[in-house]
Amino acid sequence: MATVTFLGACGTVTGSATLLEWKGARVLVDCGLFQGPEEVERLNWIPFPFDPAELSAVVVTHAHLDHTGRLPILARDGFAGPIWCARPTRGLARLVLEDAGGLQEEEARYAAKRGYSRHAEPRPLFTRQDARRALGLFRAVDFDRAHEILPGIRLTFRRAGHLLGAASLEIRAKGADGEHRTWGFSGDVGRYGVPILHDPQPLAEPLAGLVLESTYGDRRHPSDDTRTVLGRVVETTFARGGSVLVPSFALGRAQEVLYHLAALVEQGVLAADDVFLDSPMAIRATELYRGAESEHDDDMVELIEQQLDPLDPDRFNFCRTPQQSMELNDRRQPAVIVAGSGMVQGGRILHHLKRRLADPRHAVCFVGFQAAGTRGRAILEGADVVVIHGQQIEVAASIHDVQSLSAHADREELVRWGRSLAAPPGRVFLNHGEDPARKALEAALAAEPGWPRPLLPLLGDRVDW
Ligand SMILES: [Zn+2]
Repeated sequence: MATVTFLGACGTVTGSATLLEWKGARVLVDCGLFQGPEEVERLNWIPFPFDPAELSAVVVTHAHLDHTGRLPILARDGFAGPIWCARPTRGLARLVLEDAGGLQEEEARYAAKRGYSRHAEPRPLFTRQDARRALGLFRAVDFDRAHEILPGIRLTFRRAGHLLGAASLEIRAKGADGEHRTWGFSGDVGRYGVPILHDPQPLAEPLAGLVLESTYGDRRHPSDDTRTVLGRVVETTFARGGSVLVPSFALGRAQEVLYHLAALVEQGVLAADDVFLDSPMAIRATELYRGAESEHDDDMVELIEQQLDPLDPDRFNFCRTPQQSMELNDRRQPAVIVAGSGMVQGGRILHHLKRRLADPRHAVCFVGFQAAGTRGRAILEGADVVVIHGQQIEVAASIHDVQSLSAHADREELVRWGRSLAAPPGRVFLNHGEDPARKALEAALAAEPGWPRPLLPLLGDRVDW
């Protein structure tokens, strides 16, 4: 027996999980949370289709919750084996999973208080304690080095861009016919030429099978220059005495925004003292990004050598305490305030919006994807009023969207990544994308010389290794 079973992120972009089984060994690649509409999130409560105690090992491609968020459940339900990851992933995973455990506990307490749960005593999906148990199983290893994770099963991490520590995987093991073969798992592939991190690297070995993400398989990212667009928003807003609010994800995006703001400071567009990073989680992630020197690309290394490190905590104002955040309320001079959450569903950005959204001097600059049903999407689509903390707030500030900042490769970049492989893979499976995206990528890859037509697995589909 040597099989691959697709257990998540089939026709969706969340809940990544793929089970690899051999006689006597079971390895799970990613164990992500399902996120989004209620019917999708309900999948998190369904027990795994295997006994977690019988799993030999887990491999995670990167720290994002949609790839790691069910690890605490796995650990709570009996899994005690190693969780392999690339070295920088462990620190980010700690931030992400402990935070998620805390939020789950908070939601359960809130549901109990309001009595809206069907359960007499609503329980959290997992607790902070469960998260810590999972984090204790992490084994962080270097990129580009083969590791024998189980007898006869060899794993190599390759850099995928996308997020600090994000990896594509090569896994080499025997098939049912006794032949050794290598499969590739792309994880989430980042964009080429983005700041701070190295570009996505190709998998080196010829692949019998490839499981490839397809998030933006039907998209082409605009080629606008992020820095120019951001600079224009800052200039026009500051000129009329307003501030720029940037709702941002704490991991990855916040650091990229700081990078561009640092360059704008060098160009004289704004002063470093006008920039505030108002998110404790983003501040901790920034420290991890800064400390991961081996992951910095040439431009970043050069900036650090010139004493222009964009992530230096002394460069901009980092608001660690609620007090520091609240002091921004009284600030009269223009400022750029970067705060979470990225889709304006919670976090400190809500306080700043409550204060400034109704004033046309100010601006809101979105730098990330705004999912349907979020407050961010409503503002972006021109809502006149939004409700924040039960209060109706008029939207009078100017609204901007910098679309070129994305953590995911678009179709052309995914094809480029595919072309960079040693040879066309024997078989290709597209996951981590909604169906229009995977179908568009399927067509693009099928047209590549030597490539097989990709398959679009459904939840629960099983194929031979
Ligand atoms: Zn990701």
